[in-house]
Amino acid sequence: MNTQEIKEVYDKYVIPNYIRNPILLEKGSGVDVWDAEGKRYLDLFSGWAVSLLGHCHPHVVEAIQRQAAKLQHAPNIYYTEPQGLLAKHISEKSFGGQCFFCNSGAEANEAAIKLARIHNSHTGKYKIITFADSFHGRTIATVTATAQPKYHKGFAPLVEGFSYVPFNDLEALKKSVDDKTCAIMLEPIQGEGGINIATKDFLQGVRKLCNEKGLLLILDEVQCGMGRTGKYFAYQHYGIEPDIMSLAKALGGGVAIGAMVAGKEIAKSLVPGSHASTFGGNPLACAAAIAVFETIEKENLLNNAKEMGSYSVEQLKSLQKTQGIIREVRGIGLMIGIELTVNGADLIKKCIQAGLFLNCTHDKVIRFMPPLNVKKQHIDEGLNILKTVLSKP
Ligand SMILES: *Cc1c(COP(=O)(O)O)cnc(C)c1O
Repeated sequence: MNTQEIKEVYDKYVIPNYIRNPILLEKGSGVDVWDAEGKRYLDLFSGWAVSLLGHCHPHVVEAIQRQAAKLQHAPNIYYTEPQGLLAKHISEKSFGGQCFFCNSGAEANEAAIKLARIHNSHTGKYKIITFADSFHGRTIATVTATAQPKYHKGFAPLVEGFSYVPFNDLEALKKSVDDKTCAIMLEPIQGEGGINIATKDFLQGVRKLCNEKGLLLILDEVQCGMGRTGKYFAYQHYGIEPDIMSLAKALGGGVAIGAMVAGKEIAKSLVPGSHASTFGGNPLACAAAIAVFETIEKENLLNNAKEMGSYSVEQLKSLQKTQGIIREVRGIGLMIGIELTVNGADLIKKCIQAGLFLNCTHDKVIRFMPPLNVKKQHIDEGLNILKTVLSKP
């Protein structure tokens, strides 16, 4: 089918809850994606940071193919090796917690919210504080946790027990804790909110406050985790550890999987029968995620993320000098935001037409999140396209 034909099928049969570009994607390899007409695009956005190793990394493909032919689904009343081994990878690379597996970021956060509540059920504490411009998912609880009114519109009444505080404002946070508060939940680097980086003082202050008041610190690393910032998890830049962490997006290198990681003592509260997911931790998705960890190690990708991240920021800052439209360039590793003085939607459309996948969030922030194995030549190529598009009125 060609683009127009498949568009007609969508118009008839697919719910129109997304604004789609008129491009029919067919295949991908590394940073390259091709449409049905054979046009090649350079993907420096990685589909919301999902395609961590680029498209169809051979090691991930091989792991999926091998596992697909062996065992794809096993109910969670049995053991499988991939689920156990993946949990080991995550635990050893983070804070030594235990994992609950699900299939998306929203589900991972939903599990975190439920764990925070059940863990505190004997104390009567149930309130969770989140931050302005956060994004935690689209289920009714996680969209409530998401402190952006545009995502709430039409879905009232929302879930009880959430309150919102400005990001990076420790004093406001301290004031909003009350005797019913059980947890504080945040992204160390806000993704959808425009690549807003938690300051060191703030995140360390949040940890200290949680310790003093007996609150759980939930870190949402769904977008910023899995090596994107040059460390496995963004919180590792801050010298603190969470009590609970959520992962998804990049975890499976392109395959749907989510995980909630919790310290062992807290995790005990999630007793049999309290929470579950049919597909959670299925061997197929876990095999893909194990291959992601192995590839990060084998190809030294944390280091590449650091180096290519610095190079990108350097190049973008020099572009900023000649382009008045760029207000600020900020990021850690390969999680980079380019804040414009104007709305960026048109610019992104032009980039896509010119063969470059980027994204604009929070109206004015271009998101630059290439795969961790990106090379200088790809960054140069992408920035040349961006420069050309910026130079045309
Ligand atoms: C994307 C995202 C989510 C939601 O993940 P889904 O897989 O779309 O449910 C949650 N938190 C953050 C920080 C995200 O970026």
